[in-house]
Amino acid sequence: MTQSAEIGEKLLAWYDASARALPWRVPPNGARRAEPYHVWLSEIMLQQTTVAAVKPYFKAFTSRWPDIDALAAAADEDVLAAWAGLGYYARARNLLKCARVVAESGFPETEAGLLALPGVGPYTAAAIAAIAYGAPAVVVDGNIERVMARLFDERAALPAVKPKLKLLAAGLTPTRRAGDHAQALMDLGATICIPKAPRCAGCPLQAHCAGFKAGVAAALPKRLPKKPKPTRLGIAYFARREDGHVLLETRPPKGLLGGMLGLVGSEWREEAPDFAPPFAAHWQRHPEEITHVFTHFNLKLMLYTAEVRAANPQTGSFQTPPAPDDLPSIMRKAYLAGYAP
Ligand code: SF4
Repeated sequence: MTQSAEIGEKLLAWYDASARALPWRVPPNGARRAEPYHVWLSEIMLQQTTVAAVKPYFKAFTSRWPDIDALAAAADEDVLAAWAGLGYYARARNLLKCARVVAESGFPETEAGLLALPGVGPYTAAAIAAIAYGAPAVVVDGNIERVMARLFDERAALPAVKPKLKLLAAGLTPTRRAGDHAQALMDLGATICIPKAPRCAGCPLQAHCAGFKAGVAAALPKRLPKKPKPTRLGIAYFARREDGHVLLETRPPKGLLGGMLGLVGSEWREEAPDFAPPFAAHWQRHPEEITHVFTHFNLKLMLYTAEVRAANPQTGSFQTPPAPDDLPSIMRKAYLAGYAP
């Protein structure tokens, strides 16, 4: 048996015994394949978010919209509100676009067809093709890159080494049980071959692992040092009218948090913002800045609050206070700070 075949066999045997039970999965080596709708939805939700964070969202989505036709027929604002807290709202908008395409013409069964869907990148297309259709697609995410770098003692740095890691993963991808193989690698990366301190003592691939043998596994993969994240600044206004209504606006459909409900405020830029209040009032500066970490920048919001009898805002409108969970995280923080200045 070749080394690749041996690695594949050991990996599947380990997966058969230790697969994580996840709400979007079917048990390993079963007669039933996972639902494409479930695989797609979970993979979109999992992009840059943890399994623990995704589980309740996945359950809520699938009980409210049990199949892709139901999701495609949902109102945009209901889906965006249900997505609130998962972050990356462009993904929620693409989710709906994609659901509507698939409801019309069905899920494509090939990796290339899947890749043409809105919001579906190479990793997600490969994951759906392998897990839902059993295609021998090469599934590579950050976890699997780490496993490959260690298994083959690949010391060149990310991101330049990505194509090589994908080739190494391709060399291990079997034609049989490709979906289980991909999920086994995902589980190995998430539970055994974890960042910083891999649990090599319990690893089914230890006998084949060049990084382990060389004693360098924990230091792999290497990465070029990251540039520090820039900080952007913004202003937000929280106003409450005597009847309890609060000033809110729906953000423009494109851009960060597009289409989501939030406080009225400035754009977020690296230079100090200049944004006039939406109406004249006794605005008070909140004692603390509201901070949030986005993927590409840190945000600091200056919050101004006012209690008014009546007002005609130039931006936004007074609305019934929403449930805080229906707001995206940064807006939720500012909104709750406004309520309790
Ligand atoms: Fe990762 Fe260690 Fe297993 Fe190698 S032996 S694949 S480094 S957990």
